Amino acid sequence: MSDYDLVIKGGNVVIPYLGVRKADIGIVGEKVGAIADSILPEEAGQVIDATDRYIFPGAVDSHFHIGIYRPYKDDAISETTSAASGGVTTILSYFRTGHSYLNKMGPYKEIFPELLDLSKDSFLVDYGYHLALFTDEQIGEIEWLVREAGVSTFKYFMFYKLLNLAGSSPDALNYLMIDTPIDLGFLYKYMKEVSRVNDLFKDYGRIPLSIHCENPEIIQATQAEVEKNPSGNFLKDYSDARPPWQEELAINEVGVMAENTDCSINFLHLSSQKAVDAAKGMAARYPHLDFLLEGTLHHLSLSHYMDLGRLAKVNPPIRSPEDVEYLWKCVLDGSIKTVVSDHACATKEIKKGDLWTSLPGFGGTSLTFPVLISEGYHKRGLALQRIAELNSANPARYHNLYPKKGAVMVGSDADFAIVDINQEKEVTLEILQTAQDFSPEEGMKLKGWPEYTILRGKVIFEKGTITGEPGYGTYIKRPYRLHQE
Ligand SMILES: [Zn+2]
Repeated sequence: MSDYDLVIKGGNVVIPYLGVRKADIGIVGEKVGAIADSILPEEAGQVIDATDRYIFPGAVDSHFHIGIYRPYKDDAISETTSAASGGVTTILSYFRTGHSYLNKMGPYKEIFPELLDLSKDSFLVDYGYHLALFTDEQIGEIEWLVREAGVSTFKYFMFYKLLNLAGSSPDALNYLMIDTPIDLGFLYKYMKEVSRVNDLFKDYGRIPLSIHCENPEIIQATQAEVEKNPSGNFLKDYSDARPPWQEELAINEVGVMAENTDCSINFLHLSSQKAVDAAKGMAARYPHLDFLLEGTLHHLSLSHYMDLGRLAKVNPPIRSPEDVEYLWKCVLDGSIKTVVSDHACATKEIKKGDLWTSLPGFGGTSLTFPVLISEGYHKRGLALQRIAELNSANPARYHNLYPKKGAVMVGSDADFAIVDINQEKEVTLEILQTAQDFSPEEGMKLKGWPEYTILRGKVIFEKGTITGEPGYGTYIKRPYRLHQE
């Protein structure tokens, strides 16, 4: 009998908040059993030679949209396969009632068990859910959702509050299958209840509200201006139609409301200097409040001067190169705490139409290591342990999964991405292993690709080949400490 089922030998272990150390990792069952200077091969059932490789904790991609545009199970299978191929071992997916996703409205007590049932055999990686609520009845379910269903993050979309979004978007009430607009008054009630429940469970973690901060009244006016006078650069026009200052305005509204309800907030996908500065401003003005500033891979790697066309349409939009540089500055100085994909698998067919009618969003989960390593480590001197914090330890901590996930620690889940930080590859759809038939990053040369992905002690991806099965991923109830057996 060997002491360890699997030993990862001879690699450089990237430990969040500590640094990089040469060490061997011994895995027993699904957990890390030892981290030691040396573990003898005879003590191991199986050995992976990680010489000259970097062993990161498996990435926790905490902003994902399984099932937004495609049938739920199909999307879960293909897109968690893509995640696994990119060293991602846990995803937290946003779900909401209304059109898209399951095309259903009603209480989550009915809909959420159905969602878990649909999810059961389809995920290759571990997963949890964040839920968006749109009615008073759903707000009344928050405590139940935390205590029983294991959902510890809620979501609000500021730009859904108007009936008609900038003319071309669908009627919001119809789209969400509700009869009362979700305006700031609704947000106020929502924040009060999230805050009350946060207080109830404060010994187990944080219960925040994730907010997509964009202001629809401003967008209606600014989009009309751009429609009248387009420049012809699709993405620049789209950025001008939803200018950074309307994000700034929305973030300020949220900050003031958070102060008056004592609500913890996740500022999602900050795209521009104005947006990050607004969020940093709120954090400085209300130091007693709990704000998380989130960045995305696409806002850190794409700019509208690349003229990528409508396939790279996303909300909030791709911004200027100066904004991209500023976002990196905020990643480096630690103000942006998590970097996520906001993965929403779309196809060219889904994205057809003009700039205004094409649907927003696209996928990129499998690029988490190559983008952070190429653009962060190689280009801008971002330390490797900071990468492990941005894409694993911080998302795990802020979303109540730590130290089950996001930690290189004895007793934590044995989730790892073994990465060659110097290997350069051109981004192709084949590498990304997604159902998306395009990628805005296609053709880019990036360094830092995972060779192995290990989830709870099992190799699920090895040198280009998926070796795990859909259904291996388990649903994780959050806060983990509340639900742990
Ligand atoms: Zn999103």
